[in-house]
Amino acid sequence: MLIIGPPGSGKGTQAERISERLGVVAISTGDIFRANVKGETPLGIEAKKYMDNGDFVPDSVTNKMVRDRLLQDDVQDGFLLDGYPRTTVQVDELDDILAQAESRLDVVLQLTADDDELVKRLLGRALDTGRSDDNTAVIRHRLDLYHGQTEAVVARYAERGILTQVDGIGEIDEVTDRVMKAIEVAKTA
Ligand code: ADP
Repeated sequence: MLIIGPPGSGKGTQAERISERLGVVAISTGDIFRANVKGETPLGIEAKKYMDNGDFVPDSVTNKMVRDRLLQDDVQDGFLLDGYPRTTVQVDELDDILAQAESRLDVVLQLTADDDELVKRLLGRALDTGRSDDNTAVIRHRLDLYHGQTEAVVARYAERGILTQVDGIGEIDEVTDRVMKAIEVAKTA
């Protein structure tokens, strides 16, 4: 399954919980990039140029990383992908990877929240974590990219009839309950 949501929607937090409860591997492209930035790997050095400005890492780089990850053994019984695809080019790539792996998507979950709430949360998070991409100008840019590019991704999955939307506003536990119920409903649909 996929979890999609704007920056600050809590998708990372919910992805960890879903992964624990369903016993599937969670793969976060943002986490993989951050680990590479920290380790100063070639991938990290390349990705950092984009991440600090809130830009997407180029599709060619991201696609290769995700392809390598999704063809590993621990993913073969299912996975939860957080933060990918974010562009329609990435949707096509994922279709291709899944076809190669003889796999398919069951559920695409979108967490929703309005921009004012998201900016408030992200500025709060900046104080706690010091993430270098959590400042007002970069946050606005990441939100613009979400609206400009990732909403087209969501539309593609809606057309396929596998999209389920969950309100991301509320207590973390409350949102987890909504998410788990939505997954149950989607699985039996
Ligand atoms: P957020 O959703 O808050 O922006 P993430 O941790 O998911 O945070 O991603 C952090 C950054 O990593 C993004 O701003 C982008 O630079 C990069 N990134 C993550 N996933 C992708 C992707 N699928 N395509 C391009 N860049 C990505």
